[in-house]
Parts: sequence; structure tokens; C-alpha cells
Amino acid sequence: MTADPRAPAPPLHTFHGGLVLPGNREHTMNAPLRQAGIPPVLVLPLLQHIGSAAQCLVTPGDRVLKGQRLAAARGTVSAPIHAPSSGTVVAVEPRPFPHPSGFATPAIIIETDGRDEWLDPGEVPADYRAMDAARLVNHIRQSGIVGLGDAGFPTQVKLGSSLRHHIEILVINGAECEPYITCDDRLMQERAAEIIEGVCILRHILKPDRCIIALENHMGAASSAMQAAIDNTGDKWLSLVSVPDRYPSGGERQLIRILTGKEVPSQGYPADIGILCQNVGTTAAIYQAIVHNRPLLSRIVTVTGAGVKQPGNIEALIGTPFSDLIETCGGYRGPVDRLLMGGPMMGFTVSSDTVPVIKTTNCILAATREEMPLPPAEQACIRCSKCTDVCPADLLPQQLFWHSHSGDLDAAQDYHLFDCIECGCCAYVCPSHIPLVQYYRHTKAEIWAREKQKRASDLARRRHEARLERLERIRLERTERLARKKRALDNSANPATDPKQAAIQAALERVRRKKAASDVVPGNVDNLTREQQQRIRAVDARRQHTDEDS
Ligand code: SF4
Ligand code: SF4
Repeated sequence: MTADPRAPAPPLHTFHGGLVLPGNREHTMNAPLRQAGIPPVLVLPLLQHIGSAAQCLVTPGDRVLKGQRLAAARGTVSAPIHAPSSGTVVAVEPRPFPHPSGFATPAIIIETDGRDEWLDPGEVPADYRAMDAARLVNHIRQSGIVGLGDAGFPTQVKLGSSLRHHIEILVINGAECEPYITCDDRLMQERAAEIIEGVCILRHILKPDRCIIALENHMGAASSAMQAAIDNTGDKWLSLVSVPDRYPSGGERQLIRILTGKEVPSQGYPADIGILCQNVGTTAAIYQAIVHNRPLLSRIVTVTGAGVKQPGNIEALIGTPFSDLIETCGGYRGPVDRLLMGGPMMGFTVSSDTVPVIKTTNCILAATREEMPLPPAEQACIRCSKCTDVCPADLLPQQLFWHSHSGDLDAAQDYHLFDCIECGCCAYVCPSHIPLVQYYRHTKAEIWAREKQKRASDLARRRHEARLERLERIRLERTERLARKKRALDNSANPATDPKQAAIQAALERVRRKKAASDVVPGNVDNLTREQQQRIRAVDARRQHTDEDS
């Protein structure tokens, strides 16, 4: 079904598997956005995205202003981090952060001053229509924007690679991936114009043939708001499409399949088939960066679950502890069994509510025991193939489980483990209650560790080989030097080959000849004057006389 009466309705396709799940969105989708305010302390992990952690630029004691860059992108796949409010850096140290590993990571801790004082943003960029794509992409990079759906892939990397392909279709993803989560729904309801302006910026960068904005059938209010914003542009290039409420319609590959019927190749990217997909939140962040020169400082978070008194969507500064958002929502209703970042299917449990909101925090789910009962004990696989029936990535989950369980990493890769989007559909239907996704995550981590180890040992081997080569070169050079020296010494004894020796020999020869000449003609006085000759003869006569006397 299409919501744009002017644009031709693209036929919808379907993807394999998937599940129709209870939405549990009614508590949050109709409540207006609230602001979390400025917390006393902001915790900003240097790793909030896919790729390398950012490089810290501040030290404890530094006063920082809102919007100031605190950490720089390190390498191509990375993103800078900016101060969400003004204050003082009080520490740079490892802190727990929301990650499935539960590990701590280096973080910048800011004690806020409540003044929310902006760094002078300098000149607001000129009209983006007058800027070229490379400059806009660089500005997006400097603004620290990453995919806000939940992936956290640095946006400039996605845009940069898309510039090398012709993009036929730009897909703007407003379809929430999981139950409970409504942050994109509320964003579309309240800030549709910003999203559409962001879409126009992306259009200027990518020059796609057309753009499809996708949302789900249950998002009636968001659909109306987005349609009104599209109408304001008067542009038929944009079409709004509602897709069925079937989990995981909001997954990138599944959404592309629904909208175009095309399959993103295994281990490939949508750009390989001429498609670029961006989340609505990311698109609004691009608008803020390009039009208002504002880096990514905040995001909308759905705070929900039976454990929270007033569930809702909260706009929170990046770095705000989860506990502050729970307080903004009236606090805990009672004992909470599990606190998750993300939804019930793809989310993960966090160690405590002191962990901060990061760029990829789309949902905080405080679930009670009744809401998310503990799964029964795991039993043996009965090969019922229910998992295969629901897998939206068209994989064989039981085979993946078998090879993951037995530690056969190569076989798991052969069964396309890395095409698994960890949607949890297989585990949801498994009658043996096997936590399949946990097995897959563990196996992926093992494969990454093996690859890392292999890369490290390859590097060590190459270094060792280079060292041996260097030593051999030094040995050969030394041998050659010694040989040259020996040849030089030999040559020095031979005047025929040594010019210096030849010159000395010539000088000696001249002296010898001169001496010989004077010895042969001792009385040669022909060239003297008559007077000189008489004096010499007189001297000779005296000497002769003296000799005879003696
Ligand atoms: S659903 Fe569970 S029991 Fe059935 S084949 Fe898959 S892993 Fe085995
Ligand atoms: S978690 Fe992976 S294997 Fe299981 S259904 Fe989802 S994509 Fe398929």
C-alpha cells in the first residue's frame, strides 16, 4: 500500500520467514516527546559506533563547551565525539557501557555546569545546494553522525562508498525493527519536516533516481505527518510506503527485499545493487548537521517496559546515564528482572542502570519477570526445522547451531553465519528453548578472534621475514665493503694502478735524474761568466794545493 496518491505505487514483495509479534507499543507511541534535561554527569565512551574507538583530545580539568569536539575519529571507520553540554572533564577512564560483552571501555566523564554554553559554531554552512557532495560528506563525518537505527555504522562511510556506485533508490527506513520501540515513530510524528529536509540533502549528495520512505502499517499518525511534509515539497520524486507489521520488516535487507524484490548479495552491501538505506533518525541528524551546523549530541530513546512508571520517548543527551532517563519516566514501578538496551528480540541485558545512553541506544527496556519470564532449560535439538521456516535471512539455523555447538568455525561460515542478522526469530520458535542467537554471537566472536589472531601472526611472520632479509642485506653489504677495502689495499702497493703512488714515483725519478746529471758533469761551467769561471778555477787550484800539502 502506498500513501502518496501521486506517485505510482511500487508493488510490495515479501521476505522469507519472519514473525508477527505483539507490538507492545501502545504506552509510548502516542505520548509526546519529552526532554531528559542536563544530567549532573555525562559519560561518553570513546567507542559508540562500529569501527575504531575515537581518540581522546581532552584531559581531566579541561573546561568544555557544548558542541566542542572531545575525541577525533581514528581511521576511516570511526566517528568523533562532541560535548553534549558545557562543563568540566573530571576523568578519562574505563567505565561500563552498553555492550553485549558487559566490558568497560575508556570514557570521558564530564561534570556539567548547567549553563549549556555552546561553542561558537563558526559560520553556518552555506546553502547545501551550493556545496559539492564530498564537502557535505566530510561535514557529516565531522559531525559524528552514525546510523541511529541501532547499527552505529559511521554514516560518511556508507555515503562515501555509495558515491562510487550509481544509487538508483534511496530508502529511508522508518520501520521500527522490534516490538516496544517507537522512537522513530514519534520522530516522524513530530519532526517530519526535518526528516524530509534531510532526505533532500541526501538526494543532493547521491543523485538517486527515486526515494522511498518506508514505515509500518500501524504508524498512522507518522504516515500523515510525513505525507504532509512530502506534500510541502511538491516533489513527486518522494514516495511514502507502508509495509506490513511483520518482524523484522525494519531490517535493512528485509526492507529492501519488500520494497524492491532485490536481494542484497551475501557479504555484500545495498550499494552493490544500487540502493542506499538510511534510518529516519540519521536523516534528521544530517539535517541538523548541515543546516544548523550541530553535531550529534542527543537522540530519542524509547524508555519502556512494565518496570517503568511512565513509559515514553525521551530526547536525551548522549552520555546521560540510563538511571536519569528512568527517573524522567517516573522511576521504577517495582522490582525489575531485566534491563535491556534495545528490544526484546535483538536487545541485550546491561550490567546496571549507570551505563550511559550512546549514539545507538534506541530503547531502554525495563522488564519484569511476568513480562519476560526466564526461558525453560535448554534441550536437545529435535530437528523440527521450525527455525528454518522463520529465518528471514533464509539460512539453516539448526545447521548453524550444530556447527557452532561443535566449534566447527569453518563449517559455520560455509553456512553463511555472517548473513545472520541476529533477529532471534529462530530462538523465539525453538521448542527446545535453545538460545540459538547466543551460540551464533559466540561463534562470530570466535571467528573474529581467530581472524585477528591470524592477522597478528601473519604480521609477525612478515616482520620476521623482513628482519631476516634486512640482516642478510647488511651481511652482504659488509662483505662487499670488506672486499672493496682489501682491493684498495692491494692496489695501493701497485703504482701502475694507484695514481698517488705513481706521482710519488715520478717525483723520486725526477730527483734521481737530476742528481745523476750533476754527478756526471761536475765541472760543467760553460754557462758561467768568465769571472765566475776564473773564481772556480782559483778555488779548485787552492783545494788541489791543500790536498798535496796534506
Ligand atoms: S527449532 Fe530448535 S529444535 Fe527445531 S530444528 Fe531448530 S534448533 Fe532444532
Ligand atoms: S537469528 Fe539468524 S539464524 Fe536465527 S532466524 Fe534470525 S537471521 Fe536466521
